[in-house]
Amino acid sequence: MLVDTGFGTLPILDMVRELTNLPVFLVNTHTDRDHTGGNKDFNPVYMHPAEMDHYKNALPDGCQMEHVHPLWEGEILDLGHWKFEVILTPGHTPGSIMLLEREKRMLISGDSIQNGDIYMFGAGRNMPAYQSSLKKMIALSDTFDSVWPSHGDFPLKADIIPGILQGTQELMAGKLTEEEPPRPMPCKRYVCDVAGFLYRFE
Ligand SMILES: [Zn+2]
Repeated sequence: MLVDTGFGTLPILDMVRELTNLPVFLVNTHTDRDHTGGNKDFNPVYMHPAEMDHYKNALPDGCQMEHVHPLWEGEILDLGHWKFEVILTPGHTPGSIMLLEREKRMLISGDSIQNGDIYMFGAGRNMPAYQSSLKKMIALSDTFDSVWPSHGDFPLKADIIPGILQGTQELMAGKLTEEEPPRPMPCKRYVCDVAGFLYRFE
């Protein structure tokens, strides 16, 4: 199982083949461009159905919708020694998912739990949904110890999640300092104790 493919600037397939000759399927935690850029080299591709329109409307070069299959909440990706449960965590995008390995007590969190900048502006992002997803993961956090995000430092510990939730609450209450974003983008940057948010007050 490969999770996400970056911007497509690296030879992901070659890198995968250095690790294994076994058949490989791809899971996209969500379909922001920095997670799907190398998708063309993989088939099948799994994602939550709530991501499919976004993916289809800006299909990465060389990709085909025929390769895409739905992955619903509660499904188990059974790799034998590893069993990953799909957890739906909308907010960063409508169909963002996380993958929970209960026996190994680890969580692959995509962008929604990380200590870098979390994109929360623009189409498809939703702060109340994101906060609900964080509460859902706090309720599950006695089932995992390590968190493996797509950006920032890794692994993180499960106890970072309440800090991210608190950060979103401080952001929405206007308590975080507004900074310019790291690159020109139609948003501002807000940093809490454990992560950053790229957000735009409408
Ligand atoms: Zn993303």
